[in-house]
Amino acid sequence: MHPVDLAPEYVRAIAPYQPGKPVSELAREMGLAEDTIVKLASNENPLGLPASARAAIERELAELARYPDGNGFALKAALCARFGVDAAQVVLGNGSNDVLELIARAFLKPGDEVVFSQYAFAVYPLVAQATGARGVAVPAKAWGHDLDAMLAAINDRTRVVFVANPNNPTGTLLSPEAIARFVAAVPESVLVVLDEAYTEYLAPEARFDSVGALAQYPNLIVSRTFSKAYGLAGLRVGFAFAHPEVADLINRVRQPFNVNSLAQAAAVAVLDDADYLARSVEVNHAGVRALTEAFDRLGLEYIPSSANFVTFRAPDAARLNSRLLAEGVIVRPLAPYGMGDWLRVSIGLPGENARFIEVLGAALARG
Ligand SMILES: *Cc1c(COP(=O)(O)O)cnc(C)c1O
Repeated sequence: MHPVDLAPEYVRAIAPYQPGKPVSELAREMGLAEDTIVKLASNENPLGLPASARAAIERELAELARYPDGNGFALKAALCARFGVDAAQVVLGNGSNDVLELIARAFLKPGDEVVFSQYAFAVYPLVAQATGARGVAVPAKAWGHDLDAMLAAINDRTRVVFVANPNNPTGTLLSPEAIARFVAAVPESVLVVLDEAYTEYLAPEARFDSVGALAQYPNLIVSRTFSKAYGLAGLRVGFAFAHPEVADLINRVRQPFNVNSLAQAAAVAVLDDADYLARSVEVNHAGVRALTEAFDRLGLEYIPSSANFVTFRAPDAARLNSRLLAEGVIVRPLAPYGMGDWLRVSIGLPGENARFIEVLGAALARG
């Protein structure tokens, strides 16, 4: 027997996640200078590392010979102060992807079912499949979640439902009322994981009070990240809030040092950096406006977005993507999501957005 045959069939069947192309890789492939490349492929924060985080990292460097705080005391305290939760409700992750995987590992086994939406975040089927659970993709409604159909898909085998709000890669948003109705309707024996990776970009009135709802629903898990509006994607730090007993269970399958010291220190600092967060939101809103105006002008269809990217339809998306790459502009083709005609572009700095629009216009004009 070959050693790969030792792995369970459901592990061998996993299709690898396709991340955005790194700048260094495109530079090598196209012979371009790295500093001429515009990467708008992974919904990273265009403002770069917050100065508050950089200062915290520098202070932490001298301690790097030691292990991180495995309980994340300072970061949990900062999260508790900011969001009004109890430390016992917090799970820290090496990115929120880590938290999603820990939830799967704690609660899923072969034969279980996991419900998510068609065109939802690619990590949901991946973490489900790695446990042998069966992913159930519910057909989307107007590119977003069809919550009634998702409710109808829940059965005796369902253990977890993933809802991304706003959703990636489509940018669609569910109303607070729709989420409230959904959470109230899901049986208590099924976990609802509300993935709010982009929630900071929303106007306050557009937000479901997910943290407030935790007291009422012991089966609700709210996940958030420092990778987007907080600008720390490379450090890998995210978190979830849940019922204390649920959080405790998830923490038991967590590696004790899953969040490194630099990430913890930077996250504490940026939680206090209201100025960076406000600028993130402002730059993002201006960028969404600039890109959607350009799509209107160029006659391209797009999905109205509540996140830090816009998904648009192109006549020949694969060819257009190649042309953008040849000009040093990296966006994300959505063929792996079953949206072969669509590309997703992350919001950049004003100059990056302008460069994308210019290269896009020129590529379309050439036909
Ligand atoms: C970007 C993103 C995340 C965050 O991932 P991290 O692991 O925290 O970097 C989580 N969920 C969705 C839907 C995302 O788009």
